[in-house]
Formats: sequence, C-alpha cells, structure tokens
Amino acid sequence: MPEISNPPLGLFGGTFDPIHYGHLRLAEESIAQLGLGGVRWIPAGQPPHRVAPQVTARQRLEMVVRATEKNTRFSVDSGEVASVAPSYTVQTLERLRRELGDRQPFVLLVGADAFAGFSDWHRWRDIFALTHIAVSHRPGFPVEADCLPRDLASEFHTRYLADVGGLKCSPAGGIVTFAMTQLAISATQVRNLLGNGLSARYLLPDAVLDYIDIHQLYKST
Ligand code: ATP
Repeated sequence: MPEISNPPLGLFGGTFDPIHYGHLRLAEESIAQLGLGGVRWIPAGQPPHRVAPQVTARQRLEMVVRATEKNTRFSVDSGEVASVAPSYTVQTLERLRRELGDRQPFVLLVGADAFAGFSDWHRWRDIFALTHIAVSHRPGFPVEADCLPRDLASEFHTRYLADVGGLKCSPAGGIVTFAMTQLAISATQVRNLLGNGLSARYLLPDAVLDYIDIHQLYKST
C-alpha cells in the first residue's frame, strides 16, 4: 500500500450549464465534511448528443472560473473543455493520475441523481481503481442502495465507508455519502427562468449573471 501524505483532493465534474449555488455549496461543504485539501472543478466538454448548443463549452468554463475564483481551495481544470474528443470521466481520472501520481487520494463528488446513473458511465467499474466517490444528497433523489441498479448497489455495499476519515487512508476505491444543505436549484430551472425573461437572481452568483447578460446567453430564440 503506497504511503499517503496529501489530504484527499475533491474532483467535481458537471455540465455547469450554468454553474449555480447548488454546485457551489456542494463543493464548499464537501471540503469540511470530507476533509478535502481542495476541490478541482472539471466542466464537461460539449456532449456529442447536444445539437447546436446555445452556450459553448468555453462559455460554461468561463462561468465556472468567475464563480470560483475568489475561493483559494477551488481550482478549475479545463482539460475536458479543451479536448476535441468526447471526454469520459474515466479518461480524465487517468490523466489526473498521470499528473498527480498514484498516492494522492481522489474523491469524485457526485450528486445522488448523477450517482443513480453511474453504472451507465463509460468503463464505470474502472473508476473505482482511480478514485473514491462521495455522493451528496440532493432534493428529490434518495441516496439508498435499494434504489440503485443491482450491479451498482452491490458495489455500493462492498465499498461503502461509514467513516469519511477512511478517504485519506487510500488513494481510491471507497464510497461515502454526505448530507449538504438541501438546495432545490438546477441548471434546467435557471435556463428556463432566463429563457422566459424571468429573474434567476440569488440562484447563482452575480458574477455569472453578469457574464450571461453581457453575452446574451440562455435567451429564448
Ligand atoms: P441540469 O439541470 O442541466 O441537468 P444540474 O443542475 O443537475 O443540471 P449538472 O452540471 O448536471 O447540474 O450537475 C453537476 C453535478 O452537481 C451533478 O453531480 C449533480 O448531481 C450535482 N448537483 C447539481 N445541482 C445540485 C443541487 N442543487 N444539489 C446537489 N447536487 C447538485
């Protein structure tokens, strides 16, 4: 077993279309609750199934940068946005392992809704060798093994760590859950409000709303 010296690093991927306070509180609360050294935000590249996106991957990245820049524990990884090929989480984790080595504990942060679909992710079983997973509660999405697909429920049972302190003891392989302040905010809701000419203020940072305004994003066509 390699010796561990650094605190676990949180990795938070998402479309962030746009980033909102649900994302920001998840990342902020995960640091204290899970004992993380920081959180690296990883905005997704343009998903291939999205036709003629109104907002580019670069713009989503820029909004994440604006929302997170005042927090010294946050950093932003542009690797998936910069990639021309579709980026899969497993490949991003392999890149981060090459960059940061095999001993650094990684904790992939996912909301309960995202984790429920985890067994559909590309090479999902390989992900357990690369990172721990922390599943956050989200309004409307129970974090219960009974509600997961059978293969995923089985991994959940095997890998579940009742004590989050276990995250720092190995680089990868565990699953924990954590309860964050429940905020029923979604990017879909923000896009819908803006598309209908309504206010999304206080659901996301002003710096992001200013960017949306300047670039005239999320307007209905
Ligand atoms: P959309 O409404 O477009 O599907 P979203 O608001 O779910 O977007 P994503 O970028 O798809 O945002 O989510 C990135 C990650 O953040 C996912 O793991 C998701 O579960 C989590 N997440 C998003 N919103 C919340 C929230 N309000 N509370 C907890 N987790 C959240």
